[in-house]
Amino acid sequence: MLIGSYSPALVLISLCVAILASYTALDLTGRIATAKGRAVHLWTAGGALAMGIGVWSMHFIGMLAFSLPINLGYDFAITALSLLIAVVSSGFALWLVNQPRLPAWQLAFGALIMGAGISAMHYTGMAAMRMTPGIDYDPTLFGASLAIAVGASAAALWIAFRLRQNTPYVRFARAGAAIIMGIAIVGMHYTGMAAAQFADGSFCSAALDGLSDKGLDNLVLVTTLAVLSIALLTSILDARLEARTAALANSLTQANRELTQLALHDTLTGLPNRVLLADRIDLAMQRVQEQGGCFALMFIDLDGFKPVNDAFGHHMGDQLLREVGVRLREDLRSQDTLARIGGDEFVLLVQLAEADDALRLAARQVGLISRAFRVGEHDLQISASVGIAIYPGNGTTPQELLMNADAAMYHAKGTGKNGYRFFDASMNTDARRQLQLLQDLRNALEQRQFRLYYQPKFDASNGQPVGAEALLRWEHPTQGMMLPDRFIGLAEKTGLIIPMGEWVLNEACRQMRLWHLQGYANWRIAVNLSALQFCHEGLVQSVANALAAHDLPANSLTLEITETTAMSDADASMTVLQQLSDMGVDLSIDDFGTGYSSLMYLKRLPANELKIDRGFVRDLEHDSDDAAIVSAIVALGQALGLRIVAEGVETGVQQDFLTQLGCDSLQGYLLGHPLPAERFMVDIHRAEQRAAG
Ligand code: C2E
Ligand code: CA
Ligand code: CA
Repeated sequence: MLIGSYSPALVLISLCVAILASYTALDLTGRIATAKGRAVHLWTAGGALAMGIGVWSMHFIGMLAFSLPINLGYDFAITALSLLIAVVSSGFALWLVNQPRLPAWQLAFGALIMGAGISAMHYTGMAAMRMTPGIDYDPTLFGASLAIAVGASAAALWIAFRLRQNTPYVRFARAGAAIIMGIAIVGMHYTGMAAAQFADGSFCSAALDGLSDKGLDNLVLVTTLAVLSIALLTSILDARLEARTAALANSLTQANRELTQLALHDTLTGLPNRVLLADRIDLAMQRVQEQGGCFALMFIDLDGFKPVNDAFGHHMGDQLLREVGVRLREDLRSQDTLARIGGDEFVLLVQLAEADDALRLAARQVGLISRAFRVGEHDLQISASVGIAIYPGNGTTPQELLMNADAAMYHAKGTGKNGYRFFDASMNTDARRQLQLLQDLRNALEQRQFRLYYQPKFDASNGQPVGAEALLRWEHPTQGMMLPDRFIGLAEKTGLIIPMGEWVLNEACRQMRLWHLQGYANWRIAVNLSALQFCHEGLVQSVANALAAHDLPANSLTLEITETTAMSDADASMTVLQQLSDMGVDLSIDDFGTGYSSLMYLKRLPANELKIDRGFVRDLEHDSDDAAIVSAIVALGQALGLRIVAEGVETGVQQDFLTQLGCDSLQGYLLGHPLPAERFMVDIHRAEQRAAG
């Protein structure tokens, strides 16, 4: 028998190649696992090629490491066939471990096929030597080599399957696994070689015409290393790229989520906005239709928010709204929706076991808001009016439900604020009536339906008339005489107040001109301005025009603006007020005491008059607090050099008290009701006669 020997260097190299091939295979498995579409096939094909070449070249280098005392060569065709077998088996293995699941029977079957493939490659490779006589294999070692091939395949498949996902430390795990697999492959090969027995006088017929020994080892080695390195490098680069793409996709998802949050939430409070609310109402309606039950939609509007916002500025207003949001949320369950849909408007969507639960919840919410809010240094007192619509019953679409809850809220406001109201069908007719009224209001100016009534103001000390306040009336064609409370709000909301206010200004000046000519040149005519007019840029010009048109001195006109209006947007109003004051127009702060004035600011206002709100005057006799407030206001006004007017004087007691405190003039039903100009003058003449007589 011929005794073979091994070149230790080549054996070592074959082991390294086996380990490298295993590592490449494991790495590629990871690529295939995360690849999508056509890339899966490309990676599998490329992987099969790289791995097949790797395994085969390990085997071939192992053959080259072997030498016999005779010349050896390898038949080209058979060698190529063994390479093909290696590639096909590798492809099969890669395909197998990238199945979603790998049950034991499948693993066993796969290991058998792969083991058979490797063995086939090995023994085909041996056959490429074309020995005569044929190689004699030791049956035990031959069997052992097959067993090792199958066993190593099973281990390799199982490891590859487990390690295909990119988990932390996967590279170390793969390296370890690659070493084990490499040793197993090499073990199979050398066991197979050990099984081979070459009879004495054997002759290698491939040595004549086949591939021969010289330099072949280097060629195979270099080619294999090149193929494996390229495969590995591509794989690693691709993994990097994929990781980066994943990171990019992640941040994109995050950005998308933030955008949705922005689009569906109110930025100030973080609560859902109108859009999201509509969606939630839709869902709630579906749920009720499918599973029964009911839900309530509560429209919550803050009372007295605007004055706070105007007096303390938007920053405080914003903070207050945030606090309100937090407090309203306090009492809710996670499945309830609290949305902010406008300035100081919140909407609450709550699932209910029964409709009556809405009542208790609304009462609690109203109670929560009426507790003072601590914002910055201030304790702010506001309240909430809540309108409730129930589904099913109060509407069939989200819009209708919202509208009805809104209508109910208006009723809650109308009946004294700080409370709640359930929607009922009559409120809808109210809404329709409001709409009709608006249409009528649009025509009122053109159709000359507005009138001015005049209420006299008297000198507190001597009872002489000092002028009048012009108060707007609307002679509605079907509803009769209407007071401003019913239409001023509507006019302000729609901007109609601007042309209306201009009309009032002109009409009042026209009347004042007549009185002027009748000898009352010392009188002043007072005209009320709404906030919207005050913000309108044309105001100063309008006032100048009206005075010029009727040839009136500027100081016979008093403009009454409410405290809240004067304080809102302090700097802008200061400019307008200063311009008016420079013209010589008299300025009066109306409803004084109801807003939040800062004394500092009041001092800088170019006002001439303070009008104590009639709310204080009304309760003067019974409420010692109000008496104290009124005396404080009078003292304050005097200190600032302002005229003090008390409005709403209805009783002699009030008149005496206010006179004693030092009010300059008085106005109220006791002294004269608002009347049209002619009747107003009748009263004035009567008063004059009384004073004279
Ligand atoms: P205001 O400026 O506070 O006007 C005084 C209101 O108190 C008037 O109501 C007047 O009729 C009423 N009043 C007068 N004396 C007494 C009294 O002794 N007791 C009671 N309880 N009330 C008294 P009116 O005319 O209904 O006006 C309501 C509000 O409408 C006014 O409040 C004013 O803010 C607004 N307004 C009236 N005319 C105009 C206008 O031409 N333009 C603007 N922008 N607003 C106006
Ligand atoms: Ca007034
Ligand atoms: Ca007033």
